[in-house]
Amino acid sequence: MVREFVEVTVRSVLNKVEGMPFRWSINPYRGCSHGCVFCYARRTHWFLDEDGIDRWSTRIFVKVNAPEVLRRELARPSWRRELVAVGTATDPYQAIEGKYRLTRRILETLRDFRTPASIVTRCPMIRRDIDVLRALAEQAGVVVCVSVATTDPVLAREIEPTVAPPAQRLRTVEHLSSAGIRTGVLLAPILPGITDRPEALEAVVQAARDHGAQFVGHTVLHLGEVTRDAFARYLARRRPHLVAQYRSMYRGKYAPGAYRSAIGRLVEAFKERHRVRAARYLQPAPPPRQLSLL
Ligand code: SF4
Repeated sequence: MVREFVEVTVRSVLNKVEGMPFRWSINPYRGCSHGCVFCYARRTHWFLDEDGIDRWSTRIFVKVNAPEVLRRELARPSWRRELVAVGTATDPYQAIEGKYRLTRRILETLRDFRTPASIVTRCPMIRRDIDVLRALAEQAGVVVCVSVATTDPVLAREIEPTVAPPAQRLRTVEHLSSAGIRTGVLLAPILPGITDRPEALEAVVQAARDHGAQFVGHTVLHLGEVTRDAFARYLARRRPHLVAQYRSMYRGKYAPGAYRSAIGRLVEAFKERHRVRAARYLQPAPPPRQLSLL
């Protein structure tokens, strides 16, 4: 598959967010080479007149000046050091990060301005930045969420074609967690009729616990603009027997409330059974208190 990387410069990188547990987000890239069939961020391509289905994973925009712009934004006297979520609409550790190192430089900037952060990724490359994560944890607090939708590597390859296998992601959780970084697993998204068997959900919760995850969060698939079409195409190609079920379940963006509540109860029961802490998953641990000599 040919990928095109388009370097762009941006005027701002901190996006204000409403209705989430964080007020600010940063996405160093637009588009994501992983091309997961369920990716809800596809619409960010579409907003800017790009094709969010075929080109979401093949035409990636690289915000080359993001770290410098962030430094200017955080230096403003009005900046209150609120939690910043990194990677809400792209994977900040997709392969091209190996070349540009934008996410690393963004984390360094957050560290310098003592700003707490949460990071969501599916990629083991985050291990490269363990030194910066540690420093950020000490200066301001950081939390890492590694997304794992299933422990089945064959199914993972079907729905997240170029992401590292689940076992490798779980080893990443173990590595970060044992290095003192607050790390958990995001069981997401849960796909009705595909990844939602109780045994499959429990397997993720248990594997998370076995690999030192400090929390488990979960979300059920939602189908907004563009993602709806991309996912319908996937179902028609790979799981045609589910097309009618999804049509009736997803009359709007979200699965029916009763389904989401039932899934929530199941996941909570598995967390209880495997003694996974029920802490709010996007809350970074506060930095250790400085000892005073006085
Ligand atoms: S890794 Fe995340 S951002 Fe990238 S395609 Fe998959 S769901 Fe979307």
